[in-house]
Order: sequence, then structure tokens, then C-alpha cells
Amino acid sequence: MFDYVIVGAGSAGCVLANRLSEDPDVRVLLLEAGPPDTLENIHVPLGYLQLARTEVDWDYNSAPEPECGGRRIPLPRGKVLGGSSSINAMVYIRGNRRDYDEWGVAGWSWADLMPYFLKAEDNERGASEWHGAGGPLPVSEGRSQNLIARAFVDAGEQAGLARNDDFNGDQQDGVGMYQVTQRGGMRASAAVAYLHPAMERPNLTVLPYMHVQRVLMDGTRAIGVRASQLGQEQDFNAEREVILCGGSYNSPQLLMLSGIGPAEHLTMREIEVLLDQPAVGENLSDHAAAYAVWTTPEPQSLLLALEPEALEEFETSQTGPFTSNLAEAGGFARVGAEAPAPDVQFHVAPVHIVDEGMSDPQAHGIWVSPCLLTPNSRGTVRLASSDPTAKPIVHNAFYSQGDDMQRMIAGMRLTMDICAQPALRPYCAEPFTTPDGSSDEALRAHIATTTYAVYHPVGTCRMGEDAGAVVDDQLRVNGTEGLRVVDASVIPTVPRGNTNAPTIAVAERAADLIRGGGQTAPPAESAAAAAVAGAER
Ligand SMILES: Cc1cc2nc3c(=O)[nH]c(=O)nc-3n(C[C@H](O)[C@H](O)[C@H](O)COP(=O)(O)OP(=O)(O)OC[C@H]3O[C@@H](n4cnc5c(N)ncnc54)[C@H](O)[C@@H]3O)c2cc1C
Repeated sequence: MFDYVIVGAGSAGCVLANRLSEDPDVRVLLLEAGPPDTLENIHVPLGYLQLARTEVDWDYNSAPEPECGGRRIPLPRGKVLGGSSSINAMVYIRGNRRDYDEWGVAGWSWADLMPYFLKAEDNERGASEWHGAGGPLPVSEGRSQNLIARAFVDAGEQAGLARNDDFNGDQQDGVGMYQVTQRGGMRASAAVAYLHPAMERPNLTVLPYMHVQRVLMDGTRAIGVRASQLGQEQDFNAEREVILCGGSYNSPQLLMLSGIGPAEHLTMREIEVLLDQPAVGENLSDHAAAYAVWTTPEPQSLLLALEPEALEEFETSQTGPFTSNLAEAGGFARVGAEAPAPDVQFHVAPVHIVDEGMSDPQAHGIWVSPCLLTPNSRGTVRLASSDPTAKPIVHNAFYSQGDDMQRMIAGMRLTMDICAQPALRPYCAEPFTTPDGSSDEALRAHIATTTYAVYHPVGTCRMGEDAGAVVDDQLRVNGTEGLRVVDASVIPTVPRGNTNAPTIAVAERAADLIRGGGQTAPPAESAAAAAVAGAER
């Protein structure tokens, strides 16, 4: 018997396991479908290139995407302690203050969440108006600092964009090098930051290889979960709450498997309807991105990792190509008419990516990728069957609404402009996968064939104050008792940036809500207040 049963040891689940077990009188159980995070490729940053389609990846694919030539787009998701934070690209971005204010949910504005970003953070730049120090989550400068990535920043400036040394400071616009969730040149996943330091607590039990199949309900009250480990079913009881932290695909899947979801869909899948909740699995929003790739005769890309000196450098000083998070540089720009904040983000990897990263690069090169930060398009997550091991059906419906494709075309044009600047000329000498920029039609065709998802799905169990929302402003599943969802799926609209830090901030605030306070005492109260009062970003 436990007080809290947490399902999923990802970015949010690790935060909750740590924060809730801080109280020694509370018994916490954390169930994770995947294995412990022992693989070296999880912890050596560049190693994550080798993790796709292994036992630590759920290895989902989208349904055919109509605006992308009917392609099924790969959707990797971490299935391991740390969840997607154990396989992600480590870029540390909070998003724009507008994102949170536009959610329009009491308690979740930028001013409400900023103290939790600071509370979570341990930035090696130290505490400041914009940054926290001393929190569990290490944030550092990238240690690879590849020449080609730095050339992109120079080229961005030459193309007229501002240089930005802190995308989480007072301005988000501009180009620069990303800060990363690393410490000492190693990945700092949510498991490393939050879970491992708490593992020895006697009131925290962590069970890997435990695939939760559904929530056990007594009427409308959640009383536990049914899970399966190596084919053996087990039930776990929760005296206070079941908290779903399965991520944006698996949390709605679990609700639907438990009879909570769109009634017609559940009936078609022969699942008894406990609660007709049409919004479960709706409102999926993710960042669509496309890319361009060049080869270069300059021997400067991350292919250098294949040289024996690179391994030696990593082993002796934990610097060099092995510490690269791939997307070392990037930035934020505005392409939409009168965009009030950035609507395009760049991810730039100093490497010749082929076959969507599934094959090893054979040449030196650069990969530059614009992504659409504020999509109008929304997709869905649905059950393929009532079998809990069946992969959910994900429709991203990229570019299906509004001016999404038009803005993506503008983002690709800006990419090509930056890559034509003098600083990048040596590296963008030989086109490999580049668009013919002569017409919108040609750009549209290139975007259709190169679009991928930037792995930032949110919104499928959206929070809100309206009756149609899946969870309320306390993240309790509407129409139930003792059941919450705490992960990226509750975020109503995808923020302008990467989603690991926002998910961790959401979970930090949720921990306070669950413990009954709903309030926080941020480590640097005055800094937080100053940041909140800061100029429009
Ligand atoms: C390849 C990739 C690159 C990314 N790059 C970045 C980046 O550079 N920066 C950034 O900020 N964000 C990045 N992201 C996104 C970011 O990592 C996610 O938004 C964030 O980790 C989501 O956290 P979560 O808690 O919602 O879900 P997850 O971290 O995915 O955690 C869900 C957990 O629940 C477990 N689970 C699911 N279903 C069950 C079940 N039925 N039973 C038991 N356990 C279950 C899963 O195995 C997993 O461990 C990336 C993501 C990916 C996949």
C-alpha cells in the first residue's frame, strides 16, 4: 500500500518522486515501463544518436501525414528511467512568457511558473535575475562549441539577426549557442537530477520494467493501477492518489484504456466507458520542423568523434565532440506578419545527418533546421486497440490549419539566407539535401519530404478552467477523484521552445499543489520578482 502511485519515470515523474518523498511520512511508488538508465550512450551526450529504436525508445511513428506526402514520421519517446529526458537533445529553453500567459489558466501564468524554473535550476552561470543556482537540474554551457555551429551564429548576425547569449534572459529573439542540461560534460536527465539523489529514501520505491495497463477505479475514484512485469500482472494500491506521468502519447492512452475518453471511440475499441471525456487525446500540438543539409570539405564536423583523439579528450577532460548535444547552436526569429514573439526556432547540428539520423554520417557537413513554434494545427492520439501493449495512433496533422505551411516556407527561406552568408560559406559549399528556393511550390515540396516532429508533443490531456478540459487547474482529472495527470500532456499549447524545462517546472508546481501548499518559496525571491516584472520578451 502506497500513498501515491506515480506512473512513468520521465521528466515529470522523476520530479514528483523526489519532491513527494521529501516527506518521510509519505510512501511513494514510481512505476516505469522501461529499464534502469545504465546504458553509457544515455550519459555520454553524443551517444544519444545510438538510442533510437533500441529498448529505451517506445519507437512510435505518426499515422500518414497528408501534408507531408503521406509519410509516417518517427516519434521517439524515452522508455527508461528519466523518460525522454534520457534520450533528448539536452537544449535548455523555457519558452516565452507569452506562452504561459496565453494558456489563460489561473496559477499557471509566467509569473506563477518563473519561481519554479528558478527553483529547479542549477545554472553554472550562477544565480541572477534570470537564473537559479542550487536547484537539482544542472544547466551548463555546451562543451563541444564546434566551429561550424559557431559559424552559424556569426552567419545569423550577418543576416541581420541579433546575437543572443541567453535565450532564457530578457530577450528570446536572436541567434546563439544553446545552454544544455549537462554537468561536467555528461547528460543531466531528470533521473540524474531528481531521481538518483532520492533513490535511497526508504519511503520511495522505484520499479522499472513495470508496464502499467490501466488505472483501477472504484466508481469515479482511482484506487490503484494494474501493471505487468515480464508478463506477470500485479495490482498496486494508492491510498491518496494515482498520478499519471506517461507523457503526451501514453497518458491519454492510459486514460482511455481505463475507460476515460471519447465514449464513441472507447466503445469502438470494446472498452467499457467509465467517463465520457471527449477531450482526452485531442488538441495534440507539436513543433513541425524541416531541414537542409550540406557537405563540406572542411574537416570540422562531429565526424571528428571518430578520431581516436576525440575519445581520449573525452576521457581525460570531458570536453570535445563526445560532449556535443548535436543541436549546439540555434536561435529564434519572427516570420509571421506582426508576430508578437518568435515563431520560428533554429536547431543547428555540425554534422552531416543522413537518413533522418538513422545511418552514420559518411562526410563532414552541417544540418540546419527551422521549426514552427506557434502551430495552428492540432492532432490526436487514439487507441489502436484495447491491448495496452499496442502503440497508440498519433495524427500530427502538420500544416493542416491556418498559415502554418506559409510560415514554414518563410522559415526555410530565412534558413537559406543565413546559410548563404560569408561565415557559413566554407561549410555550406556543397548542397546535399537543400531546397530549390526559387518558388514557394519548390519550398513546399522540400518541406513535405523533410518534415519531422521536434519531439515536443503537448496538449493531449490539456488543463483548463472550462468543463471541456481533461484536467483542472490543480491537474486533477475532471469527473474523477484521486487521479491526476502531471506531464507535458497537460500543457495546453506548445511553448515557443523545447519542452523539457517547461515540463519540469509544471511538475515542480504540481508537487506543491499535491502537497497541499500550492505556494512556493523560490530560492531567490527578489530575483524571481524582478524577472517576472521584466521587460516584454
Ligand atoms: C529525441 C528527443 C529529443 C528531445 N530534445 C529536447 C531538447 O533538446 N530539449 C528539451 O527541452 N526537450 C527535448 N525533448 C522533449 C522533452 O524531452 C520532453 O518534452 C519531456 O521529456 C517530456 O516529459 P514527460 O514527463 O511529459 O514525458 P517522458 O519524459 O517521455 O516520460 C514518460 C515516462 O513514462 C513512462 N511510461 C509511459 N507509459 C507507461 C506505462 N504504461 N507504464 C509505465 N511507464 C510508462 C515512459 O517510459 C517514460 O519514462 C526531446 C524529446 C525527444 C524524444
